Order: sequence, then C-alpha cells, then structure tokens
Amino acid sequence: MRTMLACAATAIAMMLAAPAPAQTPAPAAAPLFATTRVEGTDNVYIFRYQGHQAMFIVTPAGVIATDPIGRYRPQAVTAYIDEIRKITSAPIRYVVYSHHHYDHIAGGKPFKDAGATFVAHKRARERLAELSFPDITLPDEVVDDKRTIELGGTTLELIYVGRNHSDNTLLMRLPKEKLIFAVDFLPINSVNWRNMPDSWPFEWEDGIKKVLALEWDRMIPGHPGPGGRLGTRDDVSNLLAYMQDLAAEVKKAADAGKCMDTAIREVKLPKYATLANYETWLPMNVERYCLYYSGGM
Ligand SMILES: [Zn+2]
Repeated sequence: MRTMLACAATAIAMMLAAPAPAQTPAPAAAPLFATTRVEGTDNVYIFRYQGHQAMFIVTPAGVIATDPIGRYRPQAVTAYIDEIRKITSAPIRYVVYSHHHYDHIAGGKPFKDAGATFVAHKRARERLAELSFPDITLPDEVVDDKRTIELGGTTLELIYVGRNHSDNTLLMRLPKEKLIFAVDFLPINSVNWRNMPDSWPFEWEDGIKKVLALEWDRMIPGHPGPGGRLGTRDDVSNLLAYMQDLAAEVKKAADAGKCMDTAIREVKLPKYATLANYETWLPMNVERYCLYYSGGM
C-alpha cells in the first residue's frame, strides 16, 4: 500500500512538474535552458527554459522582459535574469505577462525585487487576485485594448485581440522588427492543447483573423516550435482552418446526437493528421466543441 501511495505521489508530482502545454518538448539532450537572439534583430531575444519560452528586448534605456516561466522552478527565473545580465547591465524596466496561466507567469518575484514594473491585461489582474496562487506577482499596471511601450528606441505594442485560449491574452508586437510574441493561442503545427480549458473557441477564431490583419512576418511562440523554428503567417492561417473545420465536423456530430462520447471517438480530421498531438489531443479538442454545440458551454 505504501508503495502504491508513493508511486501515485510520484506520478502526481511528475504531472505537476511537467511543462505544459508543450507542443514540441525540447529533446532530452537539449540543455535545460538557452538564450538566442532572434535573427535579423539587434536586441530581441528568446529565453527558453525546458518547454517554455519568453521574449525579452534589450535597449539602452532598460530591458523589457515577458513571462517569468518559473512555476515550481525558481531556478528558471534566476537563470532568466542571469542570462539578461550577461547581455546588459541596464535596468529591467518591465515584465509583461502574456496571460494569467501559472505555467507562464509564476515566479516573478526576483524581477520585482530588481525593480521591474509588471504589466498585464486588466482581466489577468482580476483573475490572479481572485485565484491567489502562491508565487505570483500581481500586475502593477493593466492594459485594456491596447498599450504601446516605448523604451530606448524600441516600440512594443501590447494588443488585446479578444478572448481565446484565456480571457486575458496579450499579443505582443514589435512593429519595426515585424515580430509577434504569442503564447498558447497560436500553436505552431499542432492541434490545440487538451480540451482547450478556459477557452472561447469562436471569439478565438475572430482573434486569429485580427492577428492576420496586423503586419508581421515571424512569430515567437510560448513553447518551442517544431525544430525550434519561429512561426509564420501560414502557421496561423492553418490553425484557423483547423479550428473552423473541427467546429464544422463537431457541429454535424452534435446535430446527429453523437456528443459527447461517440463524437469524441468518431470525429477525425485526416487532413490535419500530421499536426503534432493529433492522436492524443484531437479527441479532447472535440470534447470542447461538443460542450458548446450540445450544451451551450
Ligand atoms: Zn495558457
């Protein structure tokens, strides 16, 4: 009995520690963390720790950092700040949260201690205040629809494109560099994470169209893309097509009275079978749309 309990505890601990939602887990041989400068830019960096990524921008007037990615691993945040310090001694002026999910934003205290101002969507602050998960630094400043941060010659736009993977996601855009940083709501070459918890599937589609209407060439994702590559406009269009086709198929199944369990087993989208996590997460994605079509949820 003791062994069984110990095993269960270990399994739960492993689940809690697992980076999620990782579309493409870093290979086992990959170093624990890495910092890379985005090609073609002077000052835009990606900090990856295991399966999570954050963007940071270095300017002569200070650093704009994003998601601390330190849930259950304070060493990730220490490593993040050390990596910034290898590049610049300029003050860390901002930490911008992509959205309120803990796996991306827990662990920010060392940034706070370094004097950073924390910025997030207004609903992220409301959600975080209500949830009171330990080891979360509440945002100091909030964004409604849009805010532009100008610092040391760099312009960073924080744009709210509506409810999607959460109800408080901020898209970050560097207009001069034509780069965006998008976390969790624009997975590259993958189906959506599990049963799309906390999501607004149809407003999400509208948001994707808004993202496509903006000017940008490359996307930094919140989890490493396939082979570590950046995202493209085609990746984003493909995600929209996948979500539209999935919604249409599940609607048919719902109308035929097949939601939920039969639809979860039967709905397949062979056109998208090469997407990452298709076998494991498609049935869960189906469940999300079944809940909408058959239950209004
Ligand atoms: Zn998330």
